[in-house]
Amino acid sequence: MQGIKEKIRAIPDYPKPGIMFRDITTLLQDARGFRKTVDEMVQPLAGTRIDKVVGIEARGFILGGAIAHQLSIGFVPVRKRGKLPWKTRSQEYQLEYGTDAMEIHVDAVQPNENILIVDDLIATGGTAEAAIKLIRAHQGNVIGCSFIVDLPELGGRKKLEALGVQVLSLCEFDGH
Ligand code: AMP
Repeated sequence: MQGIKEKIRAIPDYPKPGIMFRDITTLLQDARGFRKTVDEMVQPLAGTRIDKVVGIEARGFILGGAIAHQLSIGFVPVRKRGKLPWKTRSQEYQLEYGTDAMEIHVDAVQPNENILIVDDLIATGGTAEAAIKLIRAHQGNVIGCSFIVDLPELGGRKKLEALGVQVLSLCEFDGH
């Protein structure tokens, strides 16, 4: 079987010129690729108590849902501003131009719960940092952030490690 990295499609200049979009749909549509991805995203944490998975909109929902099911634990969505229906806590984060905000339901994470954050890719780390702040604001313990892809040149891993969070990834690509 091809490795996980080889199953990820690269789309140049999407969604705008200069960006190499790492498209994981080609990995997820492959039954063995999807299963291997889910297994490897949690394998390093075997033996660690995890109470909930937090998935970041939108591809983090696909992976986070599968991982939560695999671990028989609950799933919590972190969504873009205005999407969650109940009372929320908001955390702004920096975009290339301007700011946006991620939100979590106020009753989604309880004090001292061990939380694993999941998304498909870490670039600058801004989105994951917002998720970490939301969980910590509810006194949850972020025990790790798990991604399929790391783009190390964009510094996201270092940013999260500076916050004291363990970062897991299955593969890396050069550039943006
Ligand atoms: P960041 O907050 O800069 O770490 O960006 C991470 C978020 O943006 C993730 O939810 C990714 O899905 C998405 N993203 C950023 N860069 C790319 C890329 N080159 N290919 C695919 N998704 C990306």
